[in-house]
Amino acid sequence: MISAKGYAAHNSREPLAPFAFERRELGPSDVHIDILYCGVCHSDIHQVRDEWGGSMYPIVPGHEIVGRVIDVGSSVKKFKKGDLAAIGCMVDSCRECENCRQGLEQYCKKGSVGTYNSYERDGKTPTYGGYSNKIVTHEYFVLRVPENLPLEGVAPLLCAGITTYSPLRYWKVGKGHRVGILGLGGLGHMAVKFAAAFGAEVTMLSTSPSKEADSKKLGAHKFVLTSNKDSTKILRGYFDFILDTVSAVHDHGMFLSMLNTNGTLIVVGVPPSPAQISEFSLIGNRRSIGGSLIGGIPETQEMLNFCGDFNIVSEVEVIPIKKINEAYERMLKGDVRYRFVIDMKTL
Ligand code: NAP
Ligand code: ZN
Ligand code: ZN
Repeated sequence: MISAKGYAAHNSREPLAPFAFERRELGPSDVHIDILYCGVCHSDIHQVRDEWGGSMYPIVPGHEIVGRVIDVGSSVKKFKKGDLAAIGCMVDSCRECENCRQGLEQYCKKGSVGTYNSYERDGKTPTYGGYSNKIVTHEYFVLRVPENLPLEGVAPLLCAGITTYSPLRYWKVGKGHRVGILGLGGLGHMAVKFAAAFGAEVTMLSTSPSKEADSKKLGAHKFVLTSNKDSTKILRGYFDFILDTVSAVHDHGMFLSMLNTNGTLIVVGVPPSPAQISEFSLIGNRRSIGGSLIGGIPETQEMLNFCGDFNIVSEVEVIPIKKINEAYERMLKGDVRYRFVIDMKTL
């Protein structure tokens, strides 16, 4: 086994703390990566604090991983020692079912294996994530990283990036569409960049007046404060799509009323309690609600290549790992511009 170190949560109440554990020996198809940066996703907080239920401790969070390959198994073709490499939210799936065959591993019929807070396909070996110094993963689930981008800004693309890129592509959001992005955090700021790059008219819907200027720099054409009833009233029936990235319980009815006829509310945020939705808010204008989970491996690679071609990265605040608990508190207050990324040299 390979000894590794990281930061772990041992229960839902205490802060994350240093933790020593083991990674598996390198198999023939495995890639061994020295982790350089790992992004901090709100899903890490939900799972560390058991807000979705079923958390399995200890948890080493982290699914926005970039690093350098230090070793490869005997049959690995995609990578060699010294290459840049990245890992997102999944580290395995059955690779045989109808969804896996289409590159939709996140919807694997047998269940994909999460990068942390999950079991390997043997059903008993826990997975540990990227708040750590090294990781061993099957080459299929390791992504190539464009060489021209700053690595700390690439890390969040592995979750915040693909989770917003994928639904915008699936619903073909682009020229001629009015899209609202709800919540300007890690996912929200990537959603603004992608929606603007795809040619849509982008409106930022936010609870934070202090984020207005930034939202315009990120590419939003308009900014609306959701607490301002006069501004939100004007938006009735306005949008073709709203992409909802909010991590806390909120009023879906108000945002459904902002959709035009046949408009779609695309949900990616996962608050701790379920949404309350009135059927009237859907039937009146034939509106829909859809959801989307991260993205498959081929599409994640497509997104990374797109970011390389168009120079798109996440806006980050790099932190030493000892500040992780403070970073969680700041994210809960919406005080993040716009993704915390851990510099793993500090571990
Ligand atoms: P984040 O960086 O903390 O951003 C969330 C944003 O939501 C905040 O910046 C804030 O934006 C807004 N917000 C927070 N509390 C609010 C409230 N009470 N009412 C209204 N707005 C509020 O979180 P994130 O990492 O982007 O993750 C967002 C959500 O997506 C989380 O629930 C996460 O678990 C989920 N997620 C889902 C997937 C998926 O595959 N579907 C993948 C990754 C993450 P403003 O200040 O602009 O209002
Ligand atoms: Zn995430
Ligand atoms: Zn499958």
